[in-house]
Amino acid sequence: MKLWVNGGLHDADAARVSVLDHGLTVGDGVFETLKAVDGRPFAMEPHLDRLTRSARGLGLPDPDLDEVRRACAAVLEANPMPLGRLRITYTGGLSPLGSDRGDAGPTLVVALGETSHRPDTTAVITVPWTRNERSALAGLKTTSYAENVVALARAHERGASEALFANTVGQLCEGTGSNVFVVLDGQLHTPPLASGCLAGITRALTVEWTGALETELPMDVLERADEVFLTSTLRDVQAVHRVDGRELPGAPGPVTAKAMRIFAERAAQM
Ligand code: PLP
Repeated sequence: MKLWVNGGLHDADAARVSVLDHGLTVGDGVFETLKAVDGRPFAMEPHLDRLTRSARGLGLPDPDLDEVRRACAAVLEANPMPLGRLRITYTGGLSPLGSDRGDAGPTLVVALGETSHRPDTTAVITVPWTRNERSALAGLKTTSYAENVVALARAHERGASEALFANTVGQLCEGTGSNVFVVLDGQLHTPPLASGCLAGITRALTVEWTGALETELPMDVLERADEVFLTSTLRDVQAVHRVDGRELPGAPGPVTAKAMRIFAERAAQM
């Protein structure tokens, strides 16, 4: 496996970043995960836009997108695989302990892992921890993902593949690595960006292609919704067949099945 670190390709076991990288010591970094089908990255430009927005949100210098594009192309070419997850990590770089960011400049790492198609349906749980929609980090895709790791571990313990968060005012927000949609009386809804959720690339395409409404939703909507589904780069549109203890028999229901079909058809044309 070859990956890119700061300007060049390296064997994975020889690739190095400093142990004093601010991304490691304080989580001062941003990232993107893209899907690559037969070596072709999906929706590259929206991911690069979000990488830049996240970097700006942390006060990092804008990433050099030409280098990021070159790095992604080089890593994909060096590691052919049918379905890959391409990970771009961009951090504050080497910084002496106890200091603000150092002068060494940011770190860019691009790596690739193999992945597989997700099942059509999955189980989710809700967790008692909240997303802070007023946080400085709201909506940024930072490497400070530890809370997501804890919530996802809780989901796995309970036989689910995703954990859903409310925000601080009790509204449905998002999953640890996905956005959420619900169907109420035949109408598709998803929480608005103001809920504190990430501006998911898959979410945006799904809203555009299905006409889903962006609606503030109380958390207990999950007890009433006729259908629920998740969206993310690695899940695409994935139906939910259980939320906490509640079964949603027949998942994917008709609205979800239509969203899955539309997404698959249109994404294949991109
Ligand atoms: N929400 C969070 C917290 C995420 O980490 C992700 C993706 O990793 C998403 C939502 C879905 O975003 P996307 O569709 O761009 O993958």
